[in-house]
Amino acid sequence: MSNKKEKVTLKQSLKNNKFILGTAFKSAPGLCIMRLVTGFLTGLNHGVVIYLTSEILNALDRRESFEAILWKIATMAIYLLAYQLFYSWHWKQYNPKRKLRFIRDLHKRFFVKASQIDLSSYDSPEFYNDFVYSMETCDKSIMNTVDTLAEIIRCLVASVSVFSVVMSVDWIIALVILGFSIASMIIHIIENGIWYKYEQFFSKIWGKDWYISRFFSLADYAKEVRLTRISENMKDEFYKNKTEERRLIIKRQREFLVLNVIGSLLNITENAFIILFMSYHLMVTHTILIGGFAIAITSASKMRGMFAELQWRLAEINKQSVFADKVRRFLEAEVKIISGERELHSFESIEFKNVSFAYQDKMVLENVSFKINKGDRIALVGYNGAGKTTITKLMMRLYDTTEGEILVNGVSIKEYRLDMLREKIGAVFQDYKVFAATVAENVLADVYTPDKEQIVINALKDSTFGEKLNALPKGIETELTREFYNDGTELSGGESQKIAIARVFAHNNELIVMDEPSSALDPIAEYNLNVGIDKNARGKTVVFITHRLSTTRHVDMIYMLENGKIIESGSHDALIRDGGKYADMFNLQASKYKASEP
Ligand code: ADP
Repeated sequence: MSNKKEKVTLKQSLKNNKFILGTAFKSAPGLCIMRLVTGFLTGLNHGVVIYLTSEILNALDRRESFEAILWKIATMAIYLLAYQLFYSWHWKQYNPKRKLRFIRDLHKRFFVKASQIDLSSYDSPEFYNDFVYSMETCDKSIMNTVDTLAEIIRCLVASVSVFSVVMSVDWIIALVILGFSIASMIIHIIENGIWYKYEQFFSKIWGKDWYISRFFSLADYAKEVRLTRISENMKDEFYKNKTEERRLIIKRQREFLVLNVIGSLLNITENAFIILFMSYHLMVTHTILIGGFAIAITSASKMRGMFAELQWRLAEINKQSVFADKVRRFLEAEVKIISGERELHSFESIEFKNVSFAYQDKMVLENVSFKINKGDRIALVGYNGAGKTTITKLMMRLYDTTEGEILVNGVSIKEYRLDMLREKIGAVFQDYKVFAATVAENVLADVYTPDKEQIVINALKDSTFGEKLNALPKGIETELTREFYNDGTELSGGESQKIAIARVFAHNNELIVMDEPSSALDPIAEYNLNVGIDKNARGKTVVFITHRLSTTRHVDMIYMLENGKIIESGSHDALIRDGGKYADMFNLQASKYKASEP
């Protein structure tokens, strides 16, 4: 995470917090209302306890009957018991139970949103950061906002109730207490400002520390640490960093010291004034009772505490609004790839008509036109970055074209139901992924049931994973990756690629896209894989993206791309005969093979 502090205006802060509260109330109205009610009652409790205590003291002072005093004590005991029962029920029973339900439902909502957002959203680093942050912290940040609001209500209600009780004793002392509380709050605000100012320097220092610690502990740097003198530089940097940290701490503490002295002087003055003033009225003018004296003394420290808390809670809600903003942007992110209504039952053809496409501002495809009919096998070839993968992403409607259109069975791709379109396509991506699940679940990309055993095994055999499968401890039920299980199996790059290919073989897709399917395989596995592809893709439409000319030789049509344009197309033989760029690429590859022959 960057150290850059993000700031929001008050208006934005209110808007963000309103949004988050709305989200929380929509997801769990009972939980939120109860949380705010608890804040209110806890605040009120401060005033009630002071009032009831003073009533007992006053009764004693007035020498009321023992029975009358007993009633007052009993009233207070019943009140305290009722309050405590409610408090315990809320925090030990209701809140934890409802909070878990809230977290579960909220995560579900976030998962659905995450799987719906456009792939293009991942291309914006800013959105991507918000997205990751929102997913990781949604429950905490949303609940924190409700909690902070409840605490603000508590502080406000406590301050008002305590102030009212003091007012009932003496208005001068009430105003004095209020004045001193505001002064002490201002000191806290200044103190916070100092924290904030220094935190910015410290986060830079700690960032450097963290990097240097990783430098010495991570395997990635182990070779450089041993072979070069870079570690000396790192050590010097570390000492310099620590010296700077020490200098800043001393400077900061000096500023705090001044504030602490002022704060303590204010407290002493306030207490001395209250004691003198109240003693005078208690002993000389006899206008107050001992209960009033007690109220004034207790209320002063209560009010100071509440005002101090109020200011940091308000600062907290402002800080949280930066995070609330990320959650809001994520939840409000507009989905641009909207599903059509038309059903797609079979796949007859796909046609690109003058298609151009740009990722944000960068044009990567220009005026691309071609048509693939059912059962065709085509290959997209060209150097890295030519736009081959982008073409396949457009076929799956992971992105929409910037210009031109794509027709499926002669109808715009946008008119079809997205789920039906994507169901028809099976893809092995270049950056294939293996999930933390069993081999069978990875192949099916779905829940495994025993009736699917043969489908899974056949798919794995055809993707040349058979030998490895025999060596796995629990066969197709072996857990992959160590994310969840310490004894989970980690696969090599080539083995993972075979799992990804088996995923396509296990599904009856009508259009198969294979983006460099053999990039991580050795030549023998590649040969066997081609046999597997032949078997599984018989009668299906296949789009290969490949540099391997062993594949392009056998396809019906080759499209050679350069800088986002189709520059040549035809069969392998025709393109070799033409002697263009494809022929150059092929001859270069063939000559390398020949040169490496013994
Ligand atoms: P190929 O498959 O031919 O190697 P791609 O279709 O993956 O090429 O990429 C074409 C161009 O688009 C490249 O210049 C690549 O850097 C760029 N590109 C690919 N994906 C993105 C993306 N998500 N955001 C921005 N640019 C991208």
